[in-house]
Amino acid sequence: MPTAVRVALPVPLPTLFDYLPPAGGKLVAGQRVLVPFGRGKQVGIVVDAAATPALDASRLKPILQPLDDEPLLDGELLRTLTWAADYWLGAPGEAFAQALPLALREPRPLPDIDEEYWQLTPAGSHEHLGGRRRGGSKALLDLLIDGPRHADELAAMLPDWRSAARRLAAAGLIARCAAPDRPAGEPAPAPIPLSAEQSDAVAAIGATFGRFQPFLLDGITGSGKTEVYLALIEQALAEGRQSLLLVPEIGLAPQTLRRLRERLGVPIELLHSNLAEGERARSWLRARSGEARVVLGTRSAVFTPLPNAGLILVDEEHDASYKQQEGFRYHARDLALVRARELGVPIVLGSATPSLETLANVASGRFRALRLRSRPGASRPAPQVQIVDVRAQYLDHGLSPTLLEAVREAVARGEQALVFRNRRGYAPVLLCHACGWHADCPRCEHPMTLHAGQRQLRCHHCDRRAPVPSHCPACGAGALWPQGHGTERLEQALGVLFPDVPVRRIDRETTRRRDAFEHLLDELRHDGPAILVGTQMLAKGHDLPRLTLVAIVSVDEGLHSVDFRAGERLAQLLVQVAGRAGRADRPGRVLLQTHHPEHPLLRSLLASGYGTAAATLLAEREAAQLPPYSHQILLRADAHGRGEVDAFLAAAAAALPIDPEVQLAGPMPAPMPLRAGRHRGQLLLESTSRARLHTVVRPWRLQLGALPLSRRVRWSLDVDPIDLY
Ligand code: ADP
Ligand code: ZN
Ligand code: ZN
Repeated sequence: MPTAVRVALPVPLPTLFDYLPPAGGKLVAGQRVLVPFGRGKQVGIVVDAAATPALDASRLKPILQPLDDEPLLDGELLRTLTWAADYWLGAPGEAFAQALPLALREPRPLPDIDEEYWQLTPAGSHEHLGGRRRGGSKALLDLLIDGPRHADELAAMLPDWRSAARRLAAAGLIARCAAPDRPAGEPAPAPIPLSAEQSDAVAAIGATFGRFQPFLLDGITGSGKTEVYLALIEQALAEGRQSLLLVPEIGLAPQTLRRLRERLGVPIELLHSNLAEGERARSWLRARSGEARVVLGTRSAVFTPLPNAGLILVDEEHDASYKQQEGFRYHARDLALVRARELGVPIVLGSATPSLETLANVASGRFRALRLRSRPGASRPAPQVQIVDVRAQYLDHGLSPTLLEAVREAVARGEQALVFRNRRGYAPVLLCHACGWHADCPRCEHPMTLHAGQRQLRCHHCDRRAPVPSHCPACGAGALWPQGHGTERLEQALGVLFPDVPVRRIDRETTRRRDAFEHLLDELRHDGPAILVGTQMLAKGHDLPRLTLVAIVSVDEGLHSVDFRAGERLAQLLVQVAGRAGRADRPGRVLLQTHHPEHPLLRSLLASGYGTAAATLLAEREAAQLPPYSHQILLRADAHGRGEVDAFLAAAAAALPIDPEVQLAGPMPAPMPLRAGRHRGQLLLESTSRARLHTVVRPWRLQLGALPLSRRVRWSLDVDPIDLY
């Protein structure tokens, strides 16, 4: 019986591909190979080096060549990726493509991963003292006087360092060296003594090293979760093991990286999608070689090879950014759990506001919960939260007298205040006061947001931009009124109300440039009194020591959403934003403006905190048989014509086998039926049995691909969707 080599290729087809082994060479699973595909060539990964061919072997083409001598992916990653492709119903090749940095998907040898560090030679130190050098050479000697530095760091500080390095190296004044244990000029800070709660958590998790055990680290904001992670990573390092720490967004990574570097003094790799491709590939390879002892990264870092894994940590596990929303729609937290199981290591999911999914896993005994209930290091009380009933109150740009008074008091004490509004732009609607016309995006049938600074209307759904009309296009009147308040308008209004205090806006517009966010945060850490106007970018884990007041302009939108997850999201957002207040030595205050002060969710959050509110929400989900007590798969489709979407979804529904355990809802229009000029619709499949749902959907997915209409619409399947739009 001839054997075939089964290969995953980065193409959106739900299958693996068989080839003949190359002449002479023997391949192993996980190796990269170059294969003929269609009229061209592709780089693939060997999934099975000795498969029984699915086709007549005489029709198979041979592999052109192996690209490396060794497998790039080990058995654990191969198994996990195969599992992930099956679970999230992705094309196997797409799952593999996710796992490999782009630069490694090219038919080229692996890049050199030796770290490039430079240091002064004894002659160089002497030369530096003599001060004879000028220009670039002097600047480079100055940079190296404190100790070895990484080439990337030198490049960042001295753009033309290469030519100076060449001159100085030729003169024997500097030389390449091995990676130092700790970057130049940074003595290791002494670890903070842990509180009793923190030590208990470290001890409980530490006791499970070497086997799979999921933990929820349920700690209020500022309770020192990061200190717990650090202690655990140190313990893993002491055992010679690697740790993987996932954070929800790039913005949080530098802050955490700094803390890890200062404390641990071992090679740490940072992996996220904003890195240059070469850099990302080298980081990935250093993790694979075991050289990287700690890997810190965002969603896609969950695919990093860990040949010597000891521990996986997922910070802010409730965060929606762990779910990929296009292409291969995996969830990094859930995948991290599978990896931890395959690797046989403990995994810690940390959050002040755990997801209902995770809380259900705690309730069922699958996860062990550890709680941090106090803020160590200071005896400051938890922030005091107050509902501001704005019914019938006079509002100045949406801001109540109570809110403005609180801002005034905070800045008068030299502190900072955050006015939180989750809407960018100047005003969400531009309305004609004469006839009621308002500016809609024709491609989405949704109001366009006025951006006053750019003098533009922008659609936040498809990014269409249009000039601001000077007169109403419908009736010709000149009275166009901005309705509602975005961050830009609040920034302007607060600037007028508080002319002597800096007002800083933090949203996607003001942080577009690279590093702008870090910069703004840094300024705020050093600023005196200031008013921040910000969106949910600020809700996540950032440490702002001078912030003592958080004022939430409106919570009402979240109270009336049709999405069954809206309550959970709102509770998480409120608690996270509130957690920014009073982190340092001063007590915090939180104000929530609402027209619905009696709303049960707000009441319960205020009276008894997130845990109780979440328990109520979870009980409601159970009663309604909604996730996590049922499982969902969403088929989405969109096309230029409504008719094509409807016909495709109708055919898809007809092709679905009837199963008493699987409920079907739809075809129905998506909650946003038109977006960027495309009509959108969906089918929702639901079951209390996850296994049953997958059993039904696997063959159905292949049928969908075979429907003639499937070529005329764009469609995708989303397993455990976190948004139904
Ligand atoms: P979290 O991640 O839970 O929000 P952090 O780990 O960032 O909390 O800690 C919040 C603040 O408390 C930080 O400034 C940290 O240095 C400080 N901190 C944490 N643990 C302790 C401790 N045991 N003693 C004193 N200060 C601590
Ligand atoms: Zn008009
Ligand atoms: Zn639009």
